[in-house]
Amino acid sequence: DPRLQGISDAIRVVPHFPKPGIMFNDITTLLLRPAVFKDAVDIFLERYRGMAIDAVAGIEARGFIFGPAIALALGAKFIPLRKPRKLPGEKISEKYVLEYGTDCLEMHVGAIEPGERVLIVDDLVATGGTLSAAIRLLERAGGNVVECACLIGLPKFKDFYKLNGKPVYVLVESR
Ligand code: IMP
Repeated sequence: DPRLQGISDAIRVVPHFPKPGIMFNDITTLLLRPAVFKDAVDIFLERYRGMAIDAVAGIEARGFIFGPAIALALGAKFIPLRKPRKLPGEKISEKYVLEYGTDCLEMHVGAIEPGERVLIVDDLVATGGTLSAAIRLLERAGGNVVECACLIGLPKFKDFYKLNGKPVYVLVESR
């Protein structure tokens, strides 16, 4: 797909952010190029149209940029999966392990109906820890997770691209 090169080129890699040794994949440069932003959303739509997706769950924060664009075009609902202490209503949470310490994702009770078909969206998959927590959250609520979709995958974690038995669909590999 010739659009993928343009997507890869539009992602800026920032060395030593947010700390020394980390190569940060910055998608804000892609967002400044509407034709490329649209290409990325279009490729996801071409894949997920016809898959009877009921809900798109976006992971805070960059899953909130791509998820709603996909949800609106699919006629699906959008569910924000948030970092702790952001959601005001009754919620369920799932912890996950980071390189240093743990973090947590939360979802409102009632966001998903049992059996609904869900697509999970984030910008980047590295170890897959974040997506795995998202899958557990949605499955605890009775959701049927169809797939996870990310713009970027880190090649060194490729073996983890299948999480909890769920496929992960990645547009481009990190440079
Ligand atoms: P994982 O849980 O190890 O797969 O890390 C994925 C999470 O970390 C996602 O929510 C990403 O947004 C974030 N993340 C990790 N590295 C980067 C990066 O280079 N750019 C943007 N987000 C990143």
